[in-house]
Amino acid sequence: MKVFSSTAAFREARHGMACTLGFVPTMGYLHEGHLVLVRRAKAENGAVAVSIFVNPAQFGPKEDFARYPRDPERDLALLEKEKTDLVFMPDAGEMYPHGFVTWVDVAKVTERLEGSTRPGHFRGVATVVAKLFNIVEPNRAYFGEKDAQQVVVIKRMVADLNMSLEVVVVPTHREPDGLAMSSRNVYLNIEERQAALVLWKSLGLARQLWSGRERSAEILKQQMAALIRKEPLARIDYISVADPETLEELSEARHGALVSLAVYVGKTRLIDNITLLP
Ligand code: AMP
Repeated sequence: MKVFSSTAAFREARHGMACTLGFVPTMGYLHEGHLVLVRRAKAENGAVAVSIFVNPAQFGPKEDFARYPRDPERDLALLEKEKTDLVFMPDAGEMYPHGFVTWVDVAKVTERLEGSTRPGHFRGVATVVAKLFNIVEPNRAYFGEKDAQQVVVIKRMVADLNMSLEVVVVPTHREPDGLAMSSRNVYLNIEERQAALVLWKSLGLARQLWSGRERSAEILKQQMAALIRKEPLARIDYISVADPETLEELSEARHGALVSLAVYVGKTRLIDNITLLP
């Protein structure tokens, strides 16, 4: 496994590779959810590259950039075990040198959900992912379904800017009790960890109502909200039943609809989602 912090050195190694390259962009503090992406990339390509970069541009001024968990040594040990070929770990100065002024702004699909609570978040995400794609030059890039809106935004950017790679979406990896794995779960104390299950439970309720032929998006959202309100440590940010491509809210739930939510558990903001299937 070769580890690079410089763009030029990474590029040189990448250009020496003849096989297909799968790429997994991350912010580090790796967990099994990230490793599932790495394994999938490894299985589908001749080599795999992982980036670790806590991207300051995607955090709002009141968000957790400074205290976002970091453990690069552990991350590298985990990636080594997965037989990762290349790791790119730039610092902020490498990615945003003095004079940097160019941003990628994906419109419309960034306006709702995460975008409305976290203004500027997706501008930071799209910009850093575009830069990483230009540096890594992957054949395929792997993203988790857990960040469903991020997937929509990246796919839109790749299509709109004629980027020459395939975006592969990987299902959400969960703890045995259903909690979606996330680097931010480390913020939760024991009571909050238990309370955090309410996200998965509320998605389960939506799925159950949907299977029982409930088609009103309003009722699905109300029932989810009622369940979450019973949990004293939880505070709803949003609950949404939306078109999976435009992310516009639906009045009628339909096959393929994206049910997503963001909930504060204590001070930690967690997100999760499911797709409604037949
Ligand atoms: P992050 O380090 O949080 O930016 O995540 C890096 C990538 O891993 C993103 O594509 C995430 O969607 C994905 N990811 C994070 N958690 C999970 C999970 N529990 N299951 C699947 N993919 C995940």
